[in-house]
Amino acid sequence: METIIQASYFIAAVIFILGLKQMSSPVTARRGILWAGAAMVLATLATFLAPEITGSDQALTNVSLIVIAIVIGGGYAWWSGKRVAMTDMPQMIAMYNGMGGGAAATIAAVELLKANTEASHDPTGTMTIADALGPDVAILGILGAIIGTVSFSGSIIAWAKLDGRLHRSKLLPAQHLINAVIAIATVGFAIAIYFSADLTTIVIFYSLALVLGIFITVPVGGADMPVIISLFNALTGLAVGFEGYVLGNAAMIIAGIVVGSAGSLLTHLMAVAMNRSVANVFFAGVGTDSGGSATAAEGEMKEIQAQDAGILMAFASQVIIIPGYGMAVAQAQHKIWELTQLLHDQGVSVKFAIHPVAGRMPGHMNVLLAEAGVPYDMIYDMEDINADFKNTTVALVIGANDVVNPSAKTDTSSPLYGMPILDAIESDNVIVIKRGRGTGFSGVENPLFFTDNTKMLFGDGQKAASELIQAVKELT
Ligand code: NDP
Repeated sequence: METIIQASYFIAAVIFILGLKQMSSPVTARRGILWAGAAMVLATLATFLAPEITGSDQALTNVSLIVIAIVIGGGYAWWSGKRVAMTDMPQMIAMYNGMGGGAAATIAAVELLKANTEASHDPTGTMTIADALGPDVAILGILGAIIGTVSFSGSIIAWAKLDGRLHRSKLLPAQHLINAVIAIATVGFAIAIYFSADLTTIVIFYSLALVLGIFITVPVGGADMPVIISLFNALTGLAVGFEGYVLGNAAMIIAGIVVGSAGSLLTHLMAVAMNRSVANVFFAGVGTDSGGSATAAEGEMKEIQAQDAGILMAFASQVIIIPGYGMAVAQAQHKIWELTQLLHDQGVSVKFAIHPVAGRMPGHMNVLLAEAGVPYDMIYDMEDINADFKNTTVALVIGANDVVNPSAKTDTSSPLYGMPILDAIESDNVIVIKRGRGTGFSGVENPLFFTDNTKMLFGDGQKAASELIQAVKELT
C-alpha cells in the first residue's frame, strides 16, 4: 500500500509539472490549470488515506475537523472563484498566495509547538527544537516559517493595495534601517528557537516575521508592485516545499519547488522588464506611490470626438493599440477586436502592443485579448514593437497610463523612473481613451496626455470603442 501512496504522489507531481508547462501559453493555460487541480486532488486523497491505510504512527486525528475545513475552504474558494470579476482577479491571487504562505507557516508552528511540548516533558530540561525535530527538519521548518509568514502578511498588504483599500506608499523616516533591524531580529529569534524550545521565543519570532512582511510591502508601489507580488508567489512555493520536507510529503516538496522556481523566474523576468533589482524592491521600497513627487505635467489636454478619431484611424496606414488596466475595467476587449477587424478591412495595418506590467497581473492583457479572439500574431511584446511607433499613424491607448508615461525616461523624481515604457509618444498621433483626468496605479501625472500630437477621447472604454466602431462603419 505504501508503494501505491508514493506512486500517487509521484504521478501527482508529474501532472503538476505538465500542468505548469501548459500554463506557459494562453492556448493551453486553461487545460494546465485543470491538470494542476486534478493533481492537487490526487495528492490530497493520497495524503488523507495514507496513514489510515498503512496504520503508521502518524495516523490522522481529528478527521471530521479536517473534512469540515476542506468543505468550508474548498466551498468558499469555488464560490468566490466563480463570481470574481476579471478585474478583481489580481487581488484574489494575492490573497490566495498569502493563504499558501500562511498555511506553510502554520504547519511549521504546529511542529514547533509539538517540539515545545516534548521538550517540556524532558526530565533533563535541556531538550531543544533541534533535538526534538532533528537538525535538518528544524532548520527547514524554521526557514519555511519565516518565509511563509513574511509572504502571508506581505501578500495581505499587496491585496489591500490592489483592492484600493490602501493607497499611499510612504517610506517612514529611516525605513530601510527599521526593516534591516526587524529582519536581523527575526533571524536572531529564528536561531534562538533552534537552540531552545521556548514558547515565548516562538511567539516573538512569528510576530516579528509578520511585521517584517508588512514593513517590506507597505512602501512598495508603482512600477515595483508586480515584482513584489511575483516574489511573494515564489516565496510561498519555497515555504511549502520546506514544510513538505518537515512532513515528509513528497508531493508538497515537488509542488512547492515547482511553484518556487517558476515564481523566481517570473520575478526575475518582471524585475528585468521593469529595470529594477529584486533586492531594491524588497529592501528599499523604491518606486513608491508618491502621488505627486514627479514633476507636474505642463500644458493642456486636447479633446477629440469619436467621429474625428474614427476618421483618423480609418485613413491611417498603421494603428498600434495599447491596452491597459482600464480596458479590463471596461471589458472593452471585444469591441476593440471588432474595431480592429473593421480597420483591417479598410486596409489599415493594426497591431497590439503589450507592456509586461500592463493591467494588474502578469499576462493580464494577453488573457483579455485571447478571450476576445485576437490572433497571437497581431500581439507584440514591448521590445519587439517599440521601434515601430515612429512608423505609426495612430497609437490608440485604451485604459493604459503608467505603461506609456514618458516621465519614466526623463524625470528622475518620478516613481516610475527607469521603467521601460511603450513609446506611443513617437507616433504621428496618439488617441487616449480614458474616463477623465485620473492618474494610473502609480498615482503620477502623465505628460504624454499634454503633448501636441495627443488627443483625449474621454469616456468609458467600452462606450468609446463602440463609438469608434460606429464612426468607422459610417465611412464604409
Ligand atoms: P494604469 O493603472 O496606469 O492606468 C489605468 C488607466 O485606466 C487609468 O488612468 C484610468 O483613468 C483608466 N480607466 C480606468 N477605468 C476605465 C474605464 N472603465 N474606461 C476607460 N479607462 C479607464 O494602467 P496600466 O495598465 O497602464 O499600468 C499598470 C500599472 O499597474 C503599473 O503601474 C504597474 O506597475 C501596476 N501593477 C501591475 C501589475 C501587473 O502584474 N501587471 C500588478 C500590480 C500593479 P481614468 O480614471 O481617467 O479613466
